[in-house]
Amino acid sequence: MTTVVRTRAALRAALDSRTRPVGLVPTMGWLHAGHRALMVRAREENATTVVTIFVNPRQFGDPSDLARYPRNEANDLAICETEGVDIVFAPSVDEVYPPGFDTVVSMGAIARPLEGAARPGHFDGVATVVAILFGLVRADRAYVGQKDAQQVAVIRRMALDLAIPTKVIACPTVREPDGLAMSSRNVHLSPDERAAAPVLHRALLAARDSWEQEERSGDALRARMRAVLATEPSADVDYVSCADAATLAELDRVPGRALLSLAVRFGSTRLIDNEPLG
Ligand code: AMP
Repeated sequence: MTTVVRTRAALRAALDSRTRPVGLVPTMGWLHAGHRALMVRAREENATTVVTIFVNPRQFGDPSDLARYPRNEANDLAICETEGVDIVFAPSVDEVYPPGFDTVVSMGAIARPLEGAARPGHFDGVATVVAILFGLVRADRAYVGQKDAQQVAVIRRMALDLAIPTKVIACPTVREPDGLAMSSRNVHLSPDERAAAPVLHRALLAARDSWEQEERSGDALRARMRAVLATEPSADVDYVSCADAATLAELDRVPGRALLSLAVRFGSTRLIDNEPLG
């Protein structure tokens, strides 16, 4: 049976009767197979699994983006039950940010490029809420998706710098059969946009293919992705990137490991995806 708690106090009480280690899966709900994979891994590796469901207003720059973020708590709770989650923490905004709340985690260089440049303040919002959740749950391990590669780097950096002992574990991206990375935002795609959206993965795979054939020029790999994206007229490219895997700075040449990533709009829906190299 999954225990659902909505307050900090109830969460602490529920955790007090559970055994360690504790695995945490932070989410914004509208759960899909990508989230489920994180839950499965958390269950395999921990005595207690906690899922948090919280649409964090502080990581949305655009109020309309926040307003239209999909929500279906009943379905989310059913999924958590099926996956054998022990505790779901589904707090209100006031419970996470009580009156008088006055602290923000301000991320540095790792949060500047890519998603950070496209969405100012986004990663400070992410880091702040994750620091609170790590503090509340005191998990031994937290499971996060490689799909949000820069978010993984931000959370790791934040936990290291703030001496939070929770180990951050990145799990592979779960995809639809046609390659589209699962995302809560996919629900906003029209049928035509949905049909076009796998071009993100095709672009990444084309660049990976070039890299496997010894292409090491950052410009050439970025151009390869742009060329594939250009085959879909409805794809409005926000960025394509071939960056250092650790710093996320753009690369002229790919020496060893690297991260290919991209962000593309279809109408009003913005999708991201990435592919690690090396
Ligand atoms: P979200 O609810 O979108 O904030 O995502 C919650 C967690 O699930 C984050 O760590 C995401 O990176 C992860 N996640 C989202 N989509 C996927 C996916 N397709 N495959 C693996 N993990 C994912």
